[in-house]
Amino acid sequence: MSLIVYAIPFFLACIALEMLISVLKKRKVYRFHDTVTSLNIGFISETIRVLVKLLTVVVYAVVLDKVAAFQWDIKSPWVWVLAFFMYDFFYYWAHRSGHEINLLWAAHVVHHSSEDYNLGTALRQSSTNQVFYWIFYLPMAIAGIPVSVFVTIALISALYQFWSHTQLVPKLGWADRVFVTPSNHRCHHGRNDYCLDKNYGGTLIIWDRLFGTYTEERDDEPVVYGTLKPLQSWNPVWGNLRNYVALTRDTLATAGWRNKLMRVFAPPAWTPEGQPVETVDMRHYTPFETPSTRLQRVYGVLGSATVLALVVHLLLVAADLSMGARILYTVLIACNTACLAWVFEGKSWALALESLRNTLTLGSLTAGVWFSPVAPKIQIVAALVLLLSWALLWRINRERVAQANLQAVPAVRA
Ligand SMILES: [Zn+2]
Ligand SMILES: [Zn+2]
Repeated sequence: MSLIVYAIPFFLACIALEMLISVLKKRKVYRFHDTVTSLNIGFISETIRVLVKLLTVVVYAVVLDKVAAFQWDIKSPWVWVLAFFMYDFFYYWAHRSGHEINLLWAAHVVHHSSEDYNLGTALRQSSTNQVFYWIFYLPMAIAGIPVSVFVTIALISALYQFWSHTQLVPKLGWADRVFVTPSNHRCHHGRNDYCLDKNYGGTLIIWDRLFGTYTEERDDEPVVYGTLKPLQSWNPVWGNLRNYVALTRDTLATAGWRNKLMRVFAPPAWTPEGQPVETVDMRHYTPFETPSTRLQRVYGVLGSATVLALVVHLLLVAADLSMGARILYTVLIACNTACLAWVFEGKSWALALESLRNTLTLGSLTAGVWFSPVAPKIQIVAALVLLLSWALLWRINRERVAQANLQAVPAVRA
């Protein structure tokens, strides 16, 4: 868990660097709300990983112990080579299933919900992916790949995939046909016809070329990022739940058990009558956006920093918490991200809810009653952040009232 804590500054530094380079190159690669949403989705995904990941590794270890005929020697270089190719092969099928089985798409869609494409998108990971994906790697346990080798290869694969989420690296020639690179992963995130259900690879793209799902980025048709049913929300919790809600609603509305099962396990585009599902009209669509002022952006950075502080705290103390306390802490962090999103979306009641959220979260940190005793310095910082948050919310409220009055005047005159 502490490894993730160390990786967070590295990811944030890379994102800051990409932002800087994109500004210097005069390319609009980042939007404020989309970036904060990607980060907050990533943060809550990490807190859920604390709950689930250990369980999946334990299952892997049990299968290895009970089913595998033998275990490879961790010192042998061949076990690392074999594990790398096995992991990448099963990653391809897990990822492909994530797109071609509706239930798994409900989890994986979160990663594709951004309508931008940048290193922040790489962190936009589903909170529920890990509930399903571990099953795909059990053949590695049966083949006797030691747990430490499996975990290390999985980590290397995840780190490798981070860099492919950028628009700033152009096509790389032969490398685009061997490895997963920014160019071929850009296609994977596209909703253009030629991009749909293509380039599932993790580290190597050779599996796509072998199994017929490879496509090259076209110069004459730039990739349009996002899904055919856009999320149109900044809410990380809703982003994770929306497709499950839709899947449940569609399954209940479908007649007959066979068709109900098809709804859950067929590709997302499947319908009982075979008619095409309703999707966005690409010709008249502009990416989801909501107005934001400088004050709101400052508040967004402060709110996200609070969420990040809570996530780091949870990752550091998770081992000492009971499962109940971990779940409660995770729910609280998720609530924090949802409240922040409602401010971004301009909900009328969001500012009052934010005041309450800040008072409870930062107030309990200030009072030193946040799960375990906190250092006095943290209490002072929390108190200062609380005061600043109140002041910002008050200013944002005044700004909105002034804006509403301005818009009401012409209507009254008319
Ligand atoms: Zn995908
Ligand atoms: Zn991706």
